[in-house]
Amino acid sequence: MKSNLLSACRSAVVVCDGAMGTQLMLRGFKPGDCGMLWNEERSEDVLAVHAAYHQAGCRLITTNSFGGTRSMLARHGLGDEVANWNRKAAMLARRATGADGWVFGDVGPFGDFLEPLGDMTEENLSEIFREQIDALVEGGADAILVETMSDPSEAATAIRASKAVGSLPVAATFAFQKSGGIFRTMMGTTVSDAIGAALEAGADIVGANCGTDLSLEDYLALAMELRKVAGDAPVLLQPNAGSPKTTPDGIHYDATPEEMAALALGLREAGVSIIGGCCGTSPSHLGAMAAALA
Ligand SMILES: [Zn+2]
Repeated sequence: MKSNLLSACRSAVVVCDGAMGTQLMLRGFKPGDCGMLWNEERSEDVLAVHAAYHQAGCRLITTNSFGGTRSMLARHGLGDEVANWNRKAAMLARRATGADGWVFGDVGPFGDFLEPLGDMTEENLSEIFREQIDALVEGGADAILVETMSDPSEAATAIRASKAVGSLPVAATFAFQKSGGIFRTMMGTTVSDAIGAALEAGADIVGANCGTDLSLEDYLALAMELRKVAGDAPVLLQPNAGSPKTTPDGIHYDATPEEMAALALGLREAGVSIIGGCCGTSPSHLGAMAAALA
């Protein structure tokens, strides 16, 4: 029988999947489109991306629900589809994952600022997250991933909402940038303060994903810093495929599968327990990483 994600990642590195957005773009998704709509209208494409990652060796498959809160869906006039589409997102990931893997119910930022910078109260935000998480769990999520966070209070609200839904493991990751040699979120929060807030709110797994203009060496340094401040909690890292290069036809991430495989080995050495990918990573990157780690 499949073990709990938390105990599994304590005994050996678990390979998580890579980017969804860039994979959907290869299938016709345009920036500004509603990714959640694809769980309904292009479900075969979403399923195909999940299946490609699963086949590449990823045992932890992330639902296509990054913009699945009511506040984000409302931007497309689709706020009433929260329950329906998050449930479908989890069911699609479940189908691709099979019996030997876990479904990571993905929760992204709600899209604005909490009080006092914005109008959102913690109480309302808690309800917004709770609505999404309920549906992800109903659809079959095995764990919740609160990701790409910048504000530790927002992350803490999402973590507490996840914990209120049930006993599923909850992971929380922040997006960092490097300024003056120090990793901070866009809100200026240090690694130690961000992870401290996540752990205090009850996160079982902590780490980082994405980030702004970080090199492969930066991700390794970030992993070491995360490991230092995470206490007993397993660390999760989902690096981009290197730092982005701007060309006339857009932004490209050009780290090769071989380079990402070498990074994955370094991350394991640094004590990271769950390794996946973010922007610019593909099933071929994750395949090389999974093979190196096997
Ligand atoms: Zn990313």
